[in-house]
Amino acid sequence: METVTSTTDTPRIGLGMPRVPGVRGRLKDIPVPGHKRVLLAAPRGYCAGVDRAVIAVEKALEHYGAPVYVRKQIVHNIHVVTQLEQQGAVFVDEVDEVPEDAHIVFSAHGVSPAVVNAAADRGLHAIDATCPLVTKVHREAVRFARDDFEILLIGHEGHEEVEGTAGEAPDHVTLVNSPDDVANIEVRDPDKVVWLSQTTLSVDETMETVRRLREKFPKLQDPPSDDICYATQNRQVAIKKVAQDADLVIVVGSANSSNSVRLVEVALEYGAKAAYRVDYASEVQQEWLDGVETVGVTSGASVPEELVKELLDALADAGYGEVSEVKTAEEDLMFSLPKELRRDLAGNRDARAIGGRSRTVAG
Ligand code: SF4
Repeated sequence: METVTSTTDTPRIGLGMPRVPGVRGRLKDIPVPGHKRVLLAAPRGYCAGVDRAVIAVEKALEHYGAPVYVRKQIVHNIHVVTQLEQQGAVFVDEVDEVPEDAHIVFSAHGVSPAVVNAAADRGLHAIDATCPLVTKVHREAVRFARDDFEILLIGHEGHEEVEGTAGEAPDHVTLVNSPDDVANIEVRDPDKVVWLSQTTLSVDETMETVRRLREKFPKLQDPPSDDICYATQNRQVAIKKVAQDADLVIVVGSANSSNSVRLVEVALEYGAKAAYRVDYASEVQQEWLDGVETVGVTSGASVPEELVKELLDALADAGYGEVSEVKTAEEDLMFSLPKELRRDLAGNRDARAIGGRSRTVAG
Protein backbone atom coordinates (compact mmCIF):
# COMPACT_ATOMS: atom_id res chain seq x y z
CA MET A 1 0.00 0.00 0.00
CA GLU A 2 1.18 3.47 -0.82
CA THR A 3 2.41 5.46 2.13
CA VAL A 4 1.18 9.01 2.08
CA THR A 5 3.09 11.51 4.12
CA SER A 6 2.35 15.10 5.03
CA THR A 7 5.06 17.74 4.83
CA THR A 8 4.71 18.33 8.56
CA ASP A 9 3.51 16.46 11.63
CA THR A 10 0.40 18.64 11.69
CA PRO A 11 -2.80 16.78 12.57
CA ARG A 12 -5.05 16.46 9.52
CA ILE A 13 -8.45 18.01 9.11
CA GLY A 14 -10.75 15.25 7.92
CA LEU A 15 -14.49 14.89 7.45
CA GLY A 16 -15.90 13.92 10.80
CA MET A 17 -12.59 14.75 12.49
CA PRO A 18 -12.09 17.64 14.88
CA ARG A 19 -10.76 20.84 13.36
CA VAL A 20 -7.02 21.21 13.68
CA PRO A 21 -6.37 22.35 17.23
CA GLY A 22 -4.36 25.50 17.49
CA VAL A 23 -5.02 26.86 13.98
CA ARG A 24 -7.26 29.65 15.25
CA GLY A 25 -5.32 32.20 17.27
CA ARG A 26 -1.96 30.62 16.51
CA LEU A 27 -0.82 33.53 14.32
CA LYS A 28 -0.47 36.90 16.01
CA ASP A 29 -1.67 40.26 14.70
CA ILE A 30 1.64 42.14 14.62
CA PRO A 31 1.40 45.68 13.17
CA VAL A 32 3.05 46.47 9.81
CA PRO A 33 3.71 49.96 8.40
CA GLY A 34 0.90 49.74 5.79
CA HIS A 35 -2.55 48.24 5.27
CA LYS A 36 -2.99 44.49 5.76
CA ARG A 37 -5.08 42.65 3.18
CA VAL A 38 -5.48 39.36 1.29
CA LEU A 39 -5.78 39.06 -2.49
CA LEU A 40 -7.55 35.78 -3.21
CA ALA A 41 -6.91 34.35 -6.67
CA ALA A 42 -9.82 33.01 -8.73
CA PRO A 43 -10.03 30.50 -10.25
CA ARG A 44 -8.38 28.32 -7.63
CA GLY A 45 -8.92 24.86 -6.17
CA TYR A 46 -10.85 21.94 -7.62
CA CYS A 47 -10.90 21.46 -11.37
CA ALA A 48 -13.47 19.41 -13.25
CA GLY A 49 -11.19 16.37 -13.53
CA VAL A 50 -10.44 16.24 -9.81
CA ASP A 51 -14.07 16.78 -8.87
CA ARG A 52 -15.08 13.89 -11.11
CA ALA A 53 -12.38 11.56 -9.79
CA VAL A 54 -13.22 12.20 -6.13
CA ILE A 55 -16.95 11.79 -6.76
CA ALA A 56 -16.19 8.58 -8.66
CA VAL A 57 -14.51 7.05 -5.59
CA GLU A 58 -17.32 8.24 -3.30
CA LYS A 59 -20.00 6.83 -5.62
CA ALA A 60 -18.08 3.56 -5.96
CA LEU A 61 -17.94 3.24 -2.16
CA GLU A 62 -21.65 3.98 -1.88
CA HIS A 63 -22.65 1.60 -4.64
CA TYR A 64 -20.26 -1.36 -4.28
CA GLY A 65 -19.40 -0.94 -0.58
CA ALA A 66 -15.97 -0.71 1.07
CA PRO A 67 -13.28 -1.50 0.38
CA VAL A 68 -12.85 0.09 -3.01
CA TYR A 69 -9.22 0.05 -4.15
CA VAL A 70 -7.60 3.04 -5.81
CA ARG A 71 -4.39 2.78 -7.80
CA LYS A 72 -2.07 5.61 -6.64
CA GLN A 73 -3.47 8.74 -5.04
CA ILE A 74 -6.78 9.48 -6.75
CA VAL A 75 -5.64 13.12 -6.91
CA HIS A 76 -2.47 14.60 -5.49
CA ASN A 77 -3.81 15.97 -2.22
CA ILE A 78 -3.15 14.48 1.19
CA HIS A 79 -6.37 15.80 2.71
CA VAL A 80 -8.58 14.32 -0.01
CA VAL A 81 -6.76 10.97 0.19
CA THR A 82 -7.13 10.88 3.98
CA GLN A 83 -10.85 11.63 3.79
CA LEU A 84 -11.42 8.87 1.24
CA GLU A 85 -9.40 6.42 3.33
CA GLN A 86 -11.72 7.16 6.23
CA GLN A 87 -14.67 6.29 3.99
CA GLY A 88 -13.17 2.92 3.03
CA ALA A 89 -10.93 3.58 0.04
CA VAL A 90 -7.68 1.60 0.02
CA PHE A 91 -4.83 3.18 -1.91
CA VAL A 92 -2.35 0.83 -3.58
CA ASP A 93 0.67 1.28 -5.79
CA GLU A 94 -0.07 -1.51 -8.24
CA VAL A 95 -2.94 -3.74 -9.26
CA ASP A 96 -1.23 -6.90 -8.01
CA GLU A 97 -1.87 -5.67 -4.45
CA VAL A 98 -5.63 -5.85 -5.04
CA PRO A 99 -7.63 -9.03 -4.31
CA GLU A 100 -9.15 -10.68 -7.37
CA ASP A 101 -12.68 -9.64 -8.27
CA ALA A 102 -12.41 -6.35 -6.32
CA HIS A 103 -13.26 -2.89 -7.63
CA ILE A 104 -10.35 -0.65 -8.49
CA VAL A 105 -10.40 3.01 -9.51
CA PHE A 106 -7.68 4.39 -11.79
CA SER A 107 -6.63 7.89 -10.71
CA ALA A 108 -7.24 11.20 -12.50
CA HIS A 109 -3.65 11.13 -13.76
CA GLY A 110 -4.32 8.18 -16.05
CA VAL A 111 -2.75 4.78 -16.57
CA SER A 112 -0.89 3.05 -19.36
CA PRO A 113 -2.49 0.20 -21.35
CA ALA A 114 -0.17 -2.18 -19.47
CA VAL A 115 -1.93 -1.30 -16.20
CA VAL A 116 -5.39 -1.67 -17.76
CA ASN A 117 -4.38 -5.11 -19.05
CA ALA A 118 -2.88 -6.17 -15.72
CA ALA A 119 -6.14 -5.27 -13.96
CA ALA A 120 -8.17 -7.19 -16.51
CA ASP A 121 -5.88 -10.24 -16.23
CA ARG A 122 -6.46 -10.19 -12.47
CA GLY A 123 -10.22 -10.13 -12.93
CA LEU A 124 -10.59 -6.70 -11.31
CA HIS A 125 -13.57 -4.44 -11.95
CA ALA A 126 -11.86 -1.26 -13.11
CA ILE A 127 -13.38 2.21 -12.97
CA ASP A 128 -11.34 4.61 -15.03
CA ALA A 129 -11.33 8.07 -13.42
CA THR A 130 -8.62 9.37 -15.77
CA CYS A 131 -9.38 13.03 -16.46
CA PRO A 132 -10.82 13.35 -19.97
CA LEU A 133 -8.19 16.03 -20.69
CA VAL A 134 -5.45 13.50 -19.91
CA THR A 135 -7.21 10.92 -22.07
CA LYS A 136 -7.10 13.48 -24.89
CA VAL A 137 -3.29 13.54 -24.65
CA HIS A 138 -3.21 9.73 -24.61
CA ARG A 139 -5.21 9.68 -27.84
CA GLU A 140 -2.83 12.17 -29.43
CA ALA A 141 0.10 9.95 -28.48
CA VAL A 142 -1.56 6.89 -30.03
CA ARG A 143 -2.41 8.77 -33.21
CA PHE A 144 1.05 10.28 -33.75
CA ALA A 145 2.72 6.94 -32.96
CA ARG A 146 0.49 5.24 -35.54
CA ASP A 147 1.70 7.81 -38.09
CA ASP A 148 5.26 6.94 -37.04
CA PHE A 149 6.08 10.30 -35.46
CA GLU A 150 8.64 10.62 -32.72
CA ILE A 151 6.83 12.18 -29.77
CA LEU A 152 8.76 14.60 -27.57
CA LEU A 153 6.74 14.48 -24.37
CA ILE A 154 7.42 17.52 -22.18
CA GLY A 155 6.84 16.52 -18.57
CA HIS A 156 8.36 15.46 -15.31
CA GLU A 157 10.06 12.10 -15.14
CA GLY A 158 8.34 9.76 -12.70
CA HIS A 159 5.02 11.67 -12.66
CA GLU A 160 2.11 9.22 -12.99
CA GLU A 161 0.55 11.16 -15.83
CA VAL A 162 3.76 11.05 -17.85
CA GLU A 163 4.12 7.30 -17.23
CA GLY A 164 0.55 6.76 -18.43
CA THR A 165 0.94 8.84 -21.59
CA ALA A 166 4.36 7.42 -22.46
CA GLY A 167 2.93 3.93 -21.93
CA GLU A 168 0.54 4.46 -24.85
CA ALA A 169 3.45 4.55 -27.28
CA PRO A 170 6.63 3.53 -25.47
CA ASP A 171 8.65 3.06 -28.66
CA HIS A 172 7.82 6.53 -29.96
CA VAL A 173 8.06 8.71 -26.85
CA THR A 174 11.12 10.62 -25.63
CA LEU A 175 10.71 12.54 -22.38
CA VAL A 176 11.84 16.17 -22.22
CA ASN A 177 12.10 17.22 -18.58
CA SER A 178 13.03 20.90 -18.94
CA PRO A 179 14.33 23.52 -21.39
CA ASP A 180 17.89 22.49 -20.49
CA ASP A 181 17.13 18.92 -21.48
CA VAL A 182 16.66 19.93 -25.12
CA ALA A 183 20.40 19.99 -25.83
CA ASN A 184 20.56 16.23 -25.15
CA ILE A 185 17.55 15.19 -27.23
CA GLU A 186 18.25 13.18 -30.38
CA VAL A 187 15.59 11.95 -32.83
CA ARG A 188 15.56 9.37 -35.62
CA ASP A 189 13.97 11.63 -38.25
CA PRO A 190 13.87 15.39 -37.57
CA ASP A 191 11.14 15.73 -40.25
CA LYS A 192 8.70 13.64 -38.18
CA VAL A 193 8.64 15.02 -34.66
CA VAL A 194 5.75 16.35 -32.60
CA TRP A 195 5.65 17.68 -29.05
CA LEU A 196 3.00 16.83 -26.49
CA SER A 197 2.98 17.71 -22.79
CA GLN A 198 1.86 16.87 -19.31
CA THR A 199 -1.33 18.79 -18.45
CA THR A 200 -0.06 20.52 -15.29
CA LEU A 201 3.14 22.29 -16.33
CA SER A 202 4.18 25.92 -16.19
CA VAL A 203 2.90 27.46 -19.43
CA ASP A 204 5.89 29.82 -19.69
CA GLU A 205 8.51 27.14 -19.09
CA THR A 206 6.83 24.77 -21.54
CA MET A 207 6.81 27.45 -24.23
CA GLU A 208 10.53 27.99 -23.62
CA THR A 209 11.13 24.24 -24.00
CA VAL A 210 9.15 24.26 -27.26
CA ARG A 211 11.10 27.28 -28.53
CA ARG A 212 14.39 25.46 -27.98
CA LEU A 213 13.04 22.24 -29.50
CA ARG A 214 11.91 24.14 -32.60
CA GLU A 215 15.30 25.79 -32.90
CA LYS A 216 16.82 22.31 -32.97
CA PHE A 217 14.06 20.62 -35.03
CA PRO A 218 12.50 23.29 -37.29
CA LYS A 219 9.83 20.87 -38.58
CA LEU A 220 8.55 20.15 -35.08
CA GLN A 221 4.74 19.81 -35.13
CA ASP A 222 2.46 21.29 -32.47
CA PRO A 223 -0.23 19.23 -30.74
CA PRO A 224 -3.69 19.64 -32.29
CA SER A 225 -4.81 21.62 -29.19
CA ASP A 226 -3.34 22.77 -25.86
CA ASP A 227 -2.22 19.87 -23.68
CA ILE A 228 -1.71 22.06 -20.60
CA CYS A 229 -5.27 22.02 -19.36
CA TYR A 230 -7.65 24.95 -18.84
CA ALA A 231 -7.46 24.60 -15.02
CA THR A 232 -3.66 24.74 -14.88
CA GLN A 233 -3.60 27.72 -17.23
CA ASN A 234 -6.38 29.62 -15.43
CA ARG A 235 -4.78 29.18 -12.00
CA GLN A 236 -1.43 30.41 -13.33
CA VAL A 237 -3.01 33.48 -14.99
CA ALA A 238 -4.79 34.38 -11.73
CA ILE A 239 -1.72 34.03 -9.53
CA LYS A 240 0.37 36.07 -11.99
CA LYS A 241 -2.03 38.96 -11.46
CA VAL A 242 -2.11 38.54 -7.67
CA ALA A 243 1.67 38.13 -7.39
CA GLN A 244 2.35 41.56 -8.89
CA ASP A 245 0.86 43.16 -5.76
CA ALA A 246 1.74 40.57 -3.13
CA ASP A 247 4.55 40.67 -0.58
CA LEU A 248 3.84 37.03 0.18
CA VAL A 249 1.94 34.32 -1.71
CA ILE A 250 0.66 31.21 0.04
CA VAL A 251 -0.40 28.29 -2.17
CA VAL A 252 -2.51 25.56 -0.58
CA GLY A 253 -1.57 22.23 -2.15
CA SER A 254 0.43 19.06 -1.61
CA ALA A 255 4.12 18.62 -2.39
CA ASN A 256 3.43 16.00 -5.07
CA SER A 257 0.85 18.20 -6.80
CA SER A 258 2.57 19.42 -9.95
CA ASN A 259 0.18 22.30 -10.57
CA SER A 260 0.43 23.50 -6.93
CA VAL A 261 4.22 23.51 -7.03
CA ARG A 262 4.11 25.40 -10.34
CA LEU A 263 1.91 28.07 -8.72
CA VAL A 264 4.66 28.82 -6.17
CA GLU A 265 7.23 29.14 -8.97
CA VAL A 266 4.96 31.33 -11.09
CA ALA A 267 4.18 33.61 -8.12
CA LEU A 268 7.89 34.17 -7.51
CA GLU A 269 8.53 34.80 -11.20
CA TYR A 270 5.74 37.36 -11.42
CA GLY A 271 6.72 39.57 -8.51
CA ALA A 272 5.80 37.98 -5.19
CA LYS A 273 8.59 38.74 -2.72
CA ALA A 274 8.13 35.31 -1.14
CA ALA A 275 5.94 32.31 -1.86
CA TYR A 276 5.25 29.12 0.08
CA ARG A 277 3.16 25.99 -0.37
CA VAL A 278 1.28 24.50 2.57
CA ASP A 279 -1.00 21.49 2.98
CA TYR A 280 -2.71 23.10 5.96
CA ALA A 281 -3.05 26.58 7.47
CA SER A 282 -1.27 25.33 10.58
CA GLU A 283 1.96 25.21 8.58
CA VAL A 284 2.06 29.00 8.07
CA GLN A 285 4.94 30.46 10.05
CA GLN A 286 4.60 33.73 11.92
CA GLU A 287 7.87 35.04 10.49
CA TRP A 288 6.53 34.72 6.91
CA LEU A 289 4.22 37.62 7.80
CA ASP A 290 6.95 39.96 9.09
CA GLY A 291 6.40 43.38 7.47
CA VAL A 292 3.88 41.90 4.99
CA GLU A 293 1.03 44.15 3.87
CA THR A 294 -0.51 42.03 1.08
CA VAL A 295 -0.83 38.26 1.18
CA GLY A 296 -1.80 36.50 -2.05
CA VAL A 297 -3.68 33.22 -1.62
CA THR A 298 -4.46 30.47 -4.09
CA SER A 299 -4.80 26.69 -4.20
CA GLY A 300 -3.95 23.90 -6.59
CA ALA A 301 -6.45 22.04 -8.75
CA SER A 302 -6.75 19.15 -6.27
CA VAL A 303 -7.45 21.26 -3.17
CA PRO A 304 -10.89 21.45 -1.53
CA GLU A 305 -12.05 24.96 -0.69
CA GLU A 306 -12.39 24.15 3.02
CA LEU A 307 -8.58 24.23 3.28
CA VAL A 308 -8.46 27.72 1.77
CA LYS A 309 -11.14 28.80 4.24
CA GLU A 310 -8.96 27.52 7.11
CA LEU A 311 -6.06 29.57 5.77
CA LEU A 312 -8.19 32.71 5.45
CA ASP A 313 -9.39 32.24 9.05
CA ALA A 314 -5.80 31.91 10.26
CA LEU A 315 -4.77 35.00 8.29
CA ALA A 316 -7.72 36.95 9.70
CA ASP A 317 -6.38 36.18 13.19
CA ALA A 318 -3.12 37.76 12.08
CA GLY A 319 -4.92 40.95 11.01
CA TYR A 320 -5.48 40.03 7.36
CA GLY A 321 -9.27 40.01 7.56
CA GLU A 322 -9.83 42.15 4.47
CA VAL A 323 -10.13 39.77 1.52
CA SER A 324 -10.53 40.84 -2.13
CA GLU A 325 -10.98 38.28 -4.87
CA VAL A 326 -8.93 38.75 -8.05
CA LYS A 327 -10.85 36.88 -10.73
CA THR A 328 -9.34 36.29 -14.16
CA ALA A 329 -11.66 33.59 -15.52
CA GLU A 330 -15.01 31.91 -14.94
CA GLU A 331 -15.09 28.13 -14.84
CA ASP A 332 -18.10 25.88 -14.96
CA LEU A 333 -16.76 22.83 -16.74
CA MET A 334 -18.14 19.47 -15.60
CA PHE A 335 -17.39 15.95 -16.75
CA SER A 336 -19.70 12.98 -16.64
CA LEU A 337 -18.80 10.14 -14.27
CA PRO A 338 -16.63 7.29 -15.62
CA LYS A 339 -18.62 5.09 -17.98
CA GLU A 340 -18.40 2.03 -15.70
CA LEU A 341 -20.17 3.95 -12.93
CA ARG A 342 -22.73 5.46 -15.29
CA ARG A 343 -23.55 1.94 -16.42
CA ASP A 344 -23.85 0.54 -12.89
CA LEU A 345 -25.68 3.57 -11.50
CA ALA A 346 -28.06 3.84 -14.46
CA GLY A 347 -31.42 5.08 -13.31
CA ASN A 348 -30.41 6.61 -9.99
CA ARG A 349 -29.61 10.12 -11.20
CA ASP A 350 -25.88 9.96 -10.46
CA ALA A 351 -24.57 10.31 -13.99
CA ARG A 352 -23.80 13.98 -14.53
CA ALA A 353 -23.96 15.80 -17.83
CA ILE A 354 -20.94 16.96 -19.73
CA GLY A 355 -21.14 20.67 -20.25
CA GLY A 356 -19.90 24.05 -19.18
CA ARG A 357 -17.02 26.17 -20.28
CA SER A 358 -14.07 28.21 -19.09
CA ARG A 359 -14.17 31.92 -19.92
CA THR A 360 -11.56 34.63 -19.42
CA VAL A 361 -12.75 37.64 -17.45
CA ALA A 362 -11.86 40.97 -19.09
CA GLY A 363 -9.14 43.01 -17.38
S1 SF4 B 1 -5.56 19.56 -13.58
FE1 SF4 B 1 -6.41 19.55 -15.65
S2 SF4 B 1 -5.84 17.58 -16.53
FE2 SF4 B 1 -5.54 17.44 -14.30
S3 SF4 B 1 -7.47 16.62 -13.53
FE3 SF4 B 1 -7.67 18.84 -13.47
S4 SF4 B 1 -8.65 19.40 -15.44
FE4 SF4 B 1 -7.85 17.32 -15.63
